[in-house]
Amino acid sequence: QEKDYQFMLRTRNPGGFTPPELYLTLDRLASEYGSGTLRATTRQGFQLHGILKKNLKSAIASIINSMGSTLGACGDVNRNVMAPPAPFKNRPEYEYAWEYANNIAELLTPQTGAYYEIWLDGEKAISAEENPEVKAARQRNGNGTIIHGKEEPIYGEHYMPRKFKCAVTVPGDNSVDLYSQDVSLVVITSASGELEGFNVFAGGGLGRTHNKEETFPRMADPIGYVEKDDIYDLIKAIVSTQRDYGDRVNRRHARMKYLIEDWGVEKFRETVEGFFGKKLAPFKELPPFKYQDYLGWNEQGDGKLFLGISIENGRIKDEGDFKLLTALREIQEKFALPLRLTPNHNLIIYEIEPEQKQAISQILQNCGVELDADKIDPLVRYSMACPAMPTCGLAITESERAMPGILDRLRSLLEKVGLANEKIIVRMTGCPNGCARPYLAELGLVGSAPESYQLWLGASPDQTRLSRAYMDRLHINELEAELEPIFVFFKQSRQTEESFGDFCDRVGFDAIRQFTVDYESE
Ligand code: SF4
Repeated sequence: QEKDYQFMLRTRNPGGFTPPELYLTLDRLASEYGSGTLRATTRQGFQLHGILKKNLKSAIASIINSMGSTLGACGDVNRNVMAPPAPFKNRPEYEYAWEYANNIAELLTPQTGAYYEIWLDGEKAISAEENPEVKAARQRNGNGTIIHGKEEPIYGEHYMPRKFKCAVTVPGDNSVDLYSQDVSLVVITSASGELEGFNVFAGGGLGRTHNKEETFPRMADPIGYVEKDDIYDLIKAIVSTQRDYGDRVNRRHARMKYLIEDWGVEKFRETVEGFFGKKLAPFKELPPFKYQDYLGWNEQGDGKLFLGISIENGRIKDEGDFKLLTALREIQEKFALPLRLTPNHNLIIYEIEPEQKQAISQILQNCGVELDADKIDPLVRYSMACPAMPTCGLAITESERAMPGILDRLRSLLEKVGLANEKIIVRMTGCPNGCARPYLAELGLVGSAPESYQLWLGASPDQTRLSRAYMDRLHINELEAELEPIFVFFKQSRQTEESFGDFCDRVGFDAIRQFTVDYESE
């Protein structure tokens, strides 16, 4: 008899968009076939854990028939395309970011019919109308002629050397962690709000391997600017560059960040321009990027409202008096509202009529869900943890399950040293793959040995600078002993309003180590 193999199923939701019928289907599948919970991911998708092999086909077919998909959410292809989740209707740049996130997801969707053959017995599900411009761009070769009958006009026979990640954002909004993506586009509009083109960043990526110096997290570089009509051809040119020159021998060296690191930006840009057929224009000046989470009640700008809900560790569940799973089901059954998952595994419900606000608040309050973001401990509010044990086979340590206890301990320690309300961005993963982007946290914990974590410090609070490894093995029992002197140093020597990450970066690790030695010898 075959073993009861279990699977994790991940959805593809460009920009985190989840129609109400899809949400209700995922909620049903979680209880019928899964672990009874839903996991919001850090790439704005959902994960269902614990799906038995015998239920996989039925689960995937249900998702596709509810206007969802899992195609391209895993594998050596373009993954879920991210976009800022805020549904501002009076800021056209946000709508462009959504539109182009969708179109780029469509452009880079694998064209194989095998997906539908396997999961839907060959029937193509109802899907949104294909954008003709995107379709034509996908089928154009480098000379602008249309290729007919080629199954994978962009990926070719062998797909990509490794996973590929894209985001589209707007000037100033770094809710998507734009520096961590293979390609990030920033919408550039005219003074009157018309779309003109995109600034392009390339070469970000965070995954690494312990004790392999040749693997490292890397921030994306500014590459140039492109007019809106050329954007699909430029994306194809970047994908083609990585497809043809990315390392296909050593998977650890296969992400596009290593190609750019090895070649340098100039050679990378020239090669992309070769595929593109023209030069990239100079990068347009941008305002500084800020991290934003959009929690609580907000105006959409068209008279309607949106509500950002914090999800601790991205886990939508019912546990004791906290019943987020029940609350969201009830809201969807009553009001059928669209959702956007955020890149920080939170959730936004939008298109809410002002007269629905009271009832929605009541449902959430009855289910123990906090709606006032200012009442959430900022350590919890801004933290992220990957699922790790028991569902991820790569996990070296706990992450999601350990995070609440670790944040409690950090809060107690901060209170002890006189930093009671301090906001520090903490992210944790169970292995160096870095799914919760710990290398962009002010305090990153990366599983390195049983019950031990590599400690990363020094990233900016807006995720515009990487952290660095401060120590390789911090046993979890030593958390307070190691961090207390660092927090005391921070309290004593920080500049006005300086964040913990900026402080660690400014003073440097030698000064922190010296202070620690002096503190311990006092
Ligand atoms: Fe698994 Fe590692 Fe990703 Fe965590 S960071 S979910 S342990 S692969």
